[in-house]
Amino acid sequence: MKKTIRDYSLYDKKVLMRVDFNVPIKNGEILDDNRILQSLKTIEYAVDKGAKVILFSHLGRVKTEEDKQKNTLKPIADRLSILLKKEVLFIPETRGSLLETSIQGMQKGDVLLVENTRFEDIDGKKESNNDQDLGAYWASLGDIYINDAFGTLHRCHASNVGIASHLPNGIGFLVEKELQVFEKVLQKPERPFTVILGGSKVSDKIELIKHLVTVADYLLIGGGMAYTFIKAQGFSIGKSLLDEEHLSFCREMLQQYKDKIILPVDTTNTKALSENPSYRICSIKETKSEEIGADIGPETATLFIEYINKSKTIIWNGPVGAFETKPFDKGTKALAEALTHNQGTTIIGGGDTASAIIGFGYQNKMSHVSTGGGAALCLLEGQELKGIGVIEEA
Ligand code: AMP
Repeated sequence: MKKTIRDYSLYDKKVLMRVDFNVPIKNGEILDDNRILQSLKTIEYAVDKGAKVILFSHLGRVKTEEDKQKNTLKPIADRLSILLKKEVLFIPETRGSLLETSIQGMQKGDVLLVENTRFEDIDGKKESNNDQDLGAYWASLGDIYINDAFGTLHRCHASNVGIASHLPNGIGFLVEKELQVFEKVLQKPERPFTVILGGSKVSDKIELIKHLVTVADYLLIGGGMAYTFIKAQGFSIGKSLLDEEHLSFCREMLQQYKDKIILPVDTTNTKALSENPSYRICSIKETKSEEIGADIGPETATLFIEYINKSKTIIWNGPVGAFETKPFDKGTKALAEALTHNQGTTIIGGGDTASAIIGFGYQNKMSHVSTGGGAALCLLEGQELKGIGVIEEA
């Protein structure tokens, strides 16, 4: 068990807290504040205990000076201030005298947000490459380090692994909950245990498939990645997504686990993935050479829902269609709705699947919607998260 924020006396301490405020922003407007909302519990706890709370987060990728303007955390400071109902002091820099004197001037219960940690990436990727001096510098600004950024736990960055290596440390409530959910479900799933896998590429999910096929009872495969499996079955897939390099891997998986891997039986095809597309539904045996498989078909949805209905644990990673373009969200929506009726444990593994579920308005009807795509994927692959490795044992 890892140390948590509860293991420390926070009164009058400078608590450096890594949170995940990497939210979608367009023209300065926050489009989805779920990650900010999810981090409130730990921040409010520290404030209530009389800590001086110094928040670090990344936002997007920062490679040029222009990226800096797009990716400033200022709009997030404003939103956070509204949500916390208290002032959040925003420091528009990641190091230097303003940051240091502002921290020195903090009172108990104050909250300060440091500018986007990835501003440090402009100068030699210091944040993303876990530059030792940067981690040590940030650590010198505080007394205790708390990591509550589940979304970046699979990374070795200066703002997580770097700072943590220099200070007494622990995890926040959000990370604690995410770890507990995945640990419980992977170690002792109530069975039948079904995994729904989708998304675009087989190559991104090789380790995931290899691991999950050994622990789950059923693997329902949809989305762009299903077409490589369908081709491995010997059917034509037209211009659908194909991961040629992994065709033989798919063939081997199908031979070895033919009772566990459940593939689409029909497909929704189009000639172009554009606005208002024309489309037709057909058996997976009937795709024409000019067609793209954009979603599972209704028979597949019915088949997958039969497995969902008889399962006591379901984990879902990757949409089963190109859900951003209507009507190719139908398959993903039909499965999502079936999950809302399931009485067992339903876990959404972050990333695009979480965005789809939130878009459908179903997030409160799932047992857990993870805040981290890559980190959830890592746990599902059975790997240890780099940001957790450095956290002290309780
Ligand atoms: P991933 O990041 O690998 O989980 O992939 C998510 C993306 O896969 C989403 O943007 C979906 O639009 C896309 N996707 C899912 N199914 C398909 C499909 N049949 N054809 C093209 N893209 C798809």
